[in-house]
Amino acid sequence: MDTDTLPQTDFRQIFQAQRQTAEAWRRSTTEERIDRLVKIGDWIRSNQKTIREALWQDFKKPEVESDLSEIFPVTSEINHAKKNLKSWMKPSKASMPMPMFGTSSHIQYEPKGCSLIIAPWNYPFNLTIGPLVSALAAGCTAIIKPSELTPNTSALIAKMVEELFTPEEVTVCLGGAEVSQALLSLPFDHIFFTGSPKIGKIVMAAAAKHLTSVTLELGGKSPTIVTQSADIPDAAKKIAFGKFVNAGQTCIAPDYILVHESRKKELVAELTIAIRDMYDPKHQGIEKSPDLARIIDSRHFGRLSGYLREALDQGAKLEFGGGIVEGDLYIEPTLLSQTSEDMAISQEEIFGPLLPILGYQTLQEAIDYVNQKPKPLALYVFGSGTESAEVLEKTSSGNAVVNDCVLHFMHHNLPFGGIGNSGLGKSHGEFGFLAFSNEKGVLKQRVGFNNVTLLRPPYGVKAKKII
Ligand code: NAD
Repeated sequence: MDTDTLPQTDFRQIFQAQRQTAEAWRRSTTEERIDRLVKIGDWIRSNQKTIREALWQDFKKPEVESDLSEIFPVTSEINHAKKNLKSWMKPSKASMPMPMFGTSSHIQYEPKGCSLIIAPWNYPFNLTIGPLVSALAAGCTAIIKPSELTPNTSALIAKMVEELFTPEEVTVCLGGAEVSQALLSLPFDHIFFTGSPKIGKIVMAAAAKHLTSVTLELGGKSPTIVTQSADIPDAAKKIAFGKFVNAGQTCIAPDYILVHESRKKELVAELTIAIRDMYDPKHQGIEKSPDLARIIDSRHFGRLSGYLREALDQGAKLEFGGGIVEGDLYIEPTLLSQTSEDMAISQEEIFGPLLPILGYQTLQEAIDYVNQKPKPLALYVFGSGTESAEVLEKTSSGNAVVNDCVLHFMHHNLPFGGIGNSGLGKSHGEFGFLAFSNEKGVLKQRVGFNNVTLLRPPYGVKAKKII
């Protein structure tokens, strides 16, 4: 079936069919749900090479990065769900408050039903199949709309889903914004969207028409604070990896650095060493490195080279890099200082291998800078316990990492997600399961026993004494 050209009536038909499956899946057992996850895990293991090839064709994603950031996070989500699903699904007891004397109560986790998953291009396999694992663990069906910017990976995802599920269970609709919008007009039971804040608002507005719940995994400018007490060589190695993996096209990549002025020179020098060590160990030129992905398409290449040009034209200092090759969609890992607030690079999410480095005099100044911008998806702080504690206490972000960056994505037991402009709701592990579940509070009363007897009309002195 060519899902690219499916008319809207067909989307509706698939949706109606999935609704029926969702009704049946409401009663699915832990074992049945695990079977669905195992099928995906087995398929991934048998097709690992094909997944890597698709990612390479889409944006020359290095093989190891594909394993590390696309395949491993999904297989480990599956393994984690396999181990824990039974306890996640088990109703949890709620303790009894005094006025509820004589009752018992629990929270029951029921699947929300038929879900829609809309995914971005930057980790196209991980960010499409990861949420699917959570949806299936929770007992939901899913219609998936992968990104149109990674045609090879998205087609492979469609093939995988077609081989493993019937369209009434899980299906993929390929295409761009128009397909998304057609799907968004349907009354889904949950929408899991990963993408930009701009499109997140469109998704939330469409969901509001049906009062559909949403998880919005969005982006923004994630700050990295390097304090006076930081171990600079250690920080530089970790920041360079977190920033330049996937050529900076990572929602939780450090967007910019705020470093204590007294350590700035040292940090620039150590970042330069770290970049060379990673991408040019033999001094043959970074563009020859097989370990640096390319920019996804010419639109994003134009956007990023525009940021760089504007910054340099308006007085920013090029500390390292700056090389671009348009025909190859190559942008060199680049360090900039002396950027100013009115430049696009300071205003927009960079989402590419350009890293502005700003100096600060007092930690409070750095904190104020972060706080005058929308709340970020992630915040990184390098430094002593006291300084990092102060930053954590005085700032708000979806996640935060001390003395490292991006690592939290792999931690199953931490909720992953944003706040405000960077997102709504959480994902991964049990948090992903909960996103697709209705936590139904159930209260059981005994027959013949009534807690409100004393509060029933006619109200008199008795009731007044009680409340
Ligand atoms: P995007 O918002 O442009 O697109 C995401 C999805 O929405 C795609 O499938 C696209 O086809 C669809 N879409 C585009 N226009 C639409 C419209 N008008 N109506 C309905 N759907 C539409 O994002 P992107 O460029 O694919 O990804 C980059 C963004 O995603 C960055 O902001 C990044 O920070 C964010 N991101 C967030 C996370 C996270 O986990 N929080 C992960 C990866 C990326």
